[in-house]
Amino acid sequence: MSDKIDGRTNGLSITWPGKSRIAVMITFDFDAEFLRISRAAAKGTTIGFSDYSRGQYGPHEGLKRCLDILDVHDIKSTFFVPGIVAGRYGREVENICEHGHEIAAHGYLHESKKDISRKEEAEILKKSEAALTGITGKRPVGHRGPESVIHSFTPELLVERGYLYSSSMKDCDWAYQWEKDGRKLPLVELPCDVTMDDFTYYYFTFSNPAVRSMYTNREVFGNWKAEFDGLAEEGNKIFILKLHPQMIGRASRISALGRFIAYMKSHDAWIATCEEVAGYVLGQHRLDSAKGDVLR
Ligand SMILES: [Zn+2]
Repeated sequence: MSDKIDGRTNGLSITWPGKSRIAVMITFDFDAEFLRISRAAAKGTTIGFSDYSRGQYGPHEGLKRCLDILDVHDIKSTFFVPGIVAGRYGREVENICEHGHEIAAHGYLHESKKDISRKEEAEILKKSEAALTGITGKRPVGHRGPESVIHSFTPELLVERGYLYSSSMKDCDWAYQWEKDGRKLPLVELPCDVTMDDFTYYYFTFSNPAVRSMYTNREVFGNWKAEFDGLAEEGNKIFILKLHPQMIGRASRISALGRFIAYMKSHDAWIATCEEVAGYVLGQHRLDSAKGDVLR
């Protein structure tokens, strides 16, 4: 890898609101067919009709179930949406907004190339912000790199463009503030991991014989519950579920998700959007540094 990225895991003990043991973010990458298109493009191939339609299961069927289960449990979520998806599935993105959820940036074409320039990434951000703002009326404040791909210049670029948080790193279970040359940036990182990603367990395609995995719901939710329990026991950590309506949106999986949300709610979880958690973290860090100034 040519770019060294070091966010600095400066996760001090944050006490979550209401003394919750853990901050939980149920997030969705609403990629539709562009997840599979960009994965194939990165390998120099294209997708066939069946993979294309597997992607469409998200907007056509899965999304409604996701929105319904969030309503049932009265929680708000963050949806990361590529700009082109906002253009193609505008009514669905409007629907997400009408349910009170946050919309955040996730590339324009779901680009996951690792060797782009700072200028190219700035262009992608600009185009995706315009597409999302055209629907939501509000500039996105959060960013997740497609397939978690970001570059050494991405954090500063996000700060310049007014973002509050990034959610691409895998380096710890803390929400932390980015640093650059020993200086704190006003940008919070909300790391997530493949362990809590439905893609790891439910992604399926015939086009790559190596990818034929399909786990039972018992295995998947068993892993997630064990991870949640462990982090909640440690305290002051974050737990991010990274879901895709085209995968988690099947009937049996959504009902298992509903039971898991109910379990987390009954075990002292603060369930919020990424924007709410990042805003809280930045506020706490500012309070801590103000206290430091007073003591000096
Ligand atoms: Zn994605």
